[in-house]
Amino acid sequence: MISVDGLVRTYGDFTAIDNVSFSIGQGEIVGLLGHNGAGKTTIMKMLTGFLEPTDGSITIDGLDISEQREAIQRKIGYLPENCPVYPEMTVIDYLNYAAALHGVPETDRLTRVREAIARTELTEKATQLINTLSRGYRQRVGVAQSLLHRPDILILDEPTNGLDPSQVQHMRNLIREAAQHATVILSTHILQEVQAVCDRVIIIRAGKKVLDSRMEELRSAHRLLVTVQAEPGKVDAALMGVTAIQSVEQLSADRNYLSYALEFRDQTEPQQCAPAVASALLEQGCALYAMQPEQRTLESIFLETAAR
Ligand code: ATP
Repeated sequence: MISVDGLVRTYGDFTAIDNVSFSIGQGEIVGLLGHNGAGKTTIMKMLTGFLEPTDGSITIDGLDISEQREAIQRKIGYLPENCPVYPEMTVIDYLNYAAALHGVPETDRLTRVREAIARTELTEKATQLINTLSRGYRQRVGVAQSLLHRPDILILDEPTNGLDPSQVQHMRNLIREAAQHATVILSTHILQEVQAVCDRVIIIRAGKKVLDSRMEELRSAHRLLVTVQAEPGKVDAALMGVTAIQSVEQLSADRNYLSYALEFRDQTEPQQCAPAVASALLEQGCALYAMQPEQRTLESIFLETAAR
């Protein structure tokens, strides 16, 4: 549905986006994760047709953004960073105006505005001036604006930035609800955000894509962690006898306890090999203290990508 190929954007001599490619299928919730300045906003501006790529292509539903920008923009709802809304207008007047800008026919506008207000739970605030709303409610107005033309794709730049915990929770629910009707791409520098709402993460670092993975793949463990009380030589002998083991990393030697991370050939699940490892250790007279699949968190993966 969305295909990005070899995307490059330079500002003068500075390369902000460097050869980034990915494709996103219908109905996915994808998090663009990266530190401040990584290039998330630049990618989003190019996806929404507000910034031209220096090189590379963006195709959405078979339409090339360099040729059919307006047709693509009609498919997209966009919440830009810092949510630009008109503070001196009431919520309802602003949304009515935004619906006109989105090209919603006059006869449908009231229905669409009502629908967007209901979906973002803004009914109580509908007649209030935007400049009297809290940041969380203003952010909801921004999301309501992005939903007015019933877009197939929602692009949300830092949607929870600056919100308090209860507003963050509300925004997450809103994103999950919106994802039932649209493909969602959101940017954030907050790991928990991605963990809470996304089913896929793309990590951007200094303009480059450094990771693209589904969340369940990230969480799945590839290594078996083993702690034993034994002579190191006996542990080595035991582990050498297990042919499925590809590599052994010693993690710690805490007094009598030795900890190892074992990786297996052909991406074999650690759980499958655990009985053979346990038997080999026991045969060598090692006291097995603990054994469990390694739990990876997005935080550890984010740090791993930083170290590359
Ligand atoms: P943040 O989380 O802080 O919004 P980001 O990941 O969205 O960051 P971008 O705003 O895309 O990052 O910026 C990427 C890099 O490009 C940064 O180094 C930024 O300073 C630079 N940059 C962005 N816009 C311009 C511009 N108009 N002119 C020059 N440099 C720019």
